Amino acid sequence: MLKITDLDKAYYLGDEKFLALNKVSFTIKKGEFVSVLGPSGSGKSTLMNIIGCLDTPTSGNYILAGQKVANLSQKELARVRNKEIGFIFQSFQLLPRLSTLQNVELPLIYAGVPSDERRKRAKKILERVGLGDKLPNLPTQLSGGQQQRVAIARSVVTEPSILLADEPTGALDQKTGAQIMELFKELNEEGRTIVMITHDKHIASYGNRVLNIIDGRISEGGENNA
Ligand code: ADP
Ligand code: ADP
Repeated sequence: MLKITDLDKAYYLGDEKFLALNKVSFTIKKGEFVSVLGPSGSGKSTLMNIIGCLDTPTSGNYILAGQKVANLSQKELARVRNKEIGFIFQSFQLLPRLSTLQNVELPLIYAGVPSDERRKRAKKILERVGLGDKLPNLPTQLSGGQQQRVAIARSVVTEPSILLADEPTGALDQKTGAQIMELFKELNEEGRTIVMITHDKHIASYGNRVLNIIDGRISEGGENNA
């Protein structure tokens, strides 16, 4: 599904070269739920941006769904990103003037899906995440947990290869966060591949594999690993 080999990401501050990612290698198989766990400044966002095809590495290899990503142009990156990745953010990133249903239909509009089919698919996934009775609500008319469910529905409605979640419970209280993690577990058990970035050890433990990142270096670890 995803294979990263000897990936470096360097930032230059004047003449100073700083390695935010240092010889990072790992493979994620279809159907895995992988947590990337690390403290602030460890390189999580940098890695997320590369996995999400928002940024390119300085060197190394990245293969996503059979395609070599490292050499793609900006335009090709955008195409791969839209097709293969479903993004979930800490801050939900819903469009404030659109209803629940419209927010979830939006990626299907970009994908060129006809309107009847769009509505049908968006409704179905919203029912799946427990929001079948909130279709006309605006984001401000939803609780934080409900907004994150809308964002999750939006991320899966196009059936991307990977769900890429960046601190998905960071803006939620503990109980609501746990409910969102249960939803992730269910979506994973239904066959979806999930990569979740977090600084929270407890949240990371919901994954079935934990990759630790410290100072731009990755190691396997955590009690959940087989
Ligand atoms: P995290 O998401 O784990 O907090 P980041 O990936 O944001 O970590 O950052 C990793 C390291 O790279 C940090 O030391 C940060 O200061 C540095 N860094 C991130 N972005 C830049 C940039 N654009 N220029 C220079 N250094 C950067
Ligand atoms: P929580 O306890 O999860 O924070 P809230 O108290 O924010 O939930 O909301 C409780 C219920 O009221 C939710 O089902 C939500 O959709 C609904 N709700 C919240 N704010 C509004 C609003 N401004 N207009 C309509 N419904 C709302």
